[in-house]
Amino acid sequence: MKPSLEHFFKLLLLLALGGVTMHVPDANVLSSLGALHLDGHFSFHDVPAMARDFGNRCSFLPAAVLHPGSVSDIAATVGHVFSLGERSPLTVAARGHGHSLMGQSQAAGGIVVRMESLRSDTLHVHDGMSPFVDAPGGELWINVLHETLKYGLAPKSWTDYLHLTVGGTLSNAGVSGQAFRHGPQVSNVNQLEIVTGRGDVVTCSPEENTDLFYAALGGLGQFGIITRARIALEPAPKMVRWIRVLYSDFAGFTEDQEMLIMAENTFDYIEGFVIINRTGILNNWRTSFKPQDPVQASHFQSDGRVLYCLELTKNFNSDDTDIMEQVSSSFPLDRDVDM
Ligand SMILES: Cc1cc2nc3c(=O)[nH]c(=O)nc-3n(C[C@H](O)[C@H](O)[C@H](O)COP(=O)(O)OP(=O)(O)OC[C@H]3O[C@@H](n4cnc5c(N)ncnc54)[C@H](O)[C@@H]3O)c2cc1C
Repeated sequence: MKPSLEHFFKLLLLLALGGVTMHVPDANVLSSLGALHLDGHFSFHDVPAMARDFGNRCSFLPAAVLHPGSVSDIAATVGHVFSLGERSPLTVAARGHGHSLMGQSQAAGGIVVRMESLRSDTLHVHDGMSPFVDAPGGELWINVLHETLKYGLAPKSWTDYLHLTVGGTLSNAGVSGQAFRHGPQVSNVNQLEIVTGRGDVVTCSPEENTDLFYAALGGLGQFGIITRARIALEPAPKMVRWIRVLYSDFAGFTEDQEMLIMAENTFDYIEGFVIINRTGILNNWRTSFKPQDPVQASHFQSDGRVLYCLELTKNFNSDDTDIMEQVSSSFPLDRDVDM
């Protein structure tokens, strides 16, 4: 779609309404985008939506939104912007699920690349000795999980919240309760396909184009756009025992957490949270605490105080149920817990 006069009037109207920061690029620059041959398309009607993110604190209006139909679309667009030279104000930002907090996935007066448009049924699971999945950069982790579970496999390292994209969390770190054992998600990637700032499509890994690989992982989208990631998998647990331990004492909380992380045969997931119990109702927190939980009744009258929570899980098979009962009944923790 070619940018039109109507498009510019709409942008000006949005500016007049306030609340958004706008940089209007040259009309020739915008119309040059229309000359690109793409499998997908540029759109302008969803420009205001791309000036928002989860944080809702920054709002930068882009000039156009690219809905890529292929990796080549991203390469052609980035290559075109690069060819405009350093003086061109046109910037490009990849947008995953838009869950950044401070406008990181926005592009003031530039082009937002909607990576989720590139999501497709192209998740390829490879089982074997060192299983992995090849996932598009715009794929949600929840879909990666569903697909790998069909093979009895799951990624080694997670985020807590799974409606985030592969490229979005790999551009940050990707942290959850498995990170103490496997490292963050960025430490569990075998290979990336990246569209570089020049518009080249480059495969990189710890063995190939190493600098680009390590720059892009945790690179906040500044070293290229991740279009595919090869993610390490492991056998998915059959059953999981989930334990939460509440503390009012910070020292006890951190001592227990450190002890469990260092222990030889420890839990499979360990995460610590701070709970600011402003409302006095613990189950406001992640819906984990239900009104029928015994902890609600008497143990913790927090009176608005800060509380701490250790969240732990242990994977097991149905044959090990008795052992798991013993493990969970050993809580609250004493310092000699031996798993
Ligand atoms: C409710 C919520 C829960 C969260 N839970 C966790 C959690 O458990 N663990 C954790 O580690 N983090 C968590 N986060 C933080 C989250 O990892 C980051 O906010 C991440 O940026 C969101 O991913 P996204 O897919 O929405 O990416 P976006 O917010 O769209 O993008 C984030 C950044 O990555 C860049 N980017 C996006 N896609 C690509 C790509 N394909 N290639 C290159 N760069 C790209 C963007 O340009 C931007 O700079 C959470 C955030 C929220 C709002």
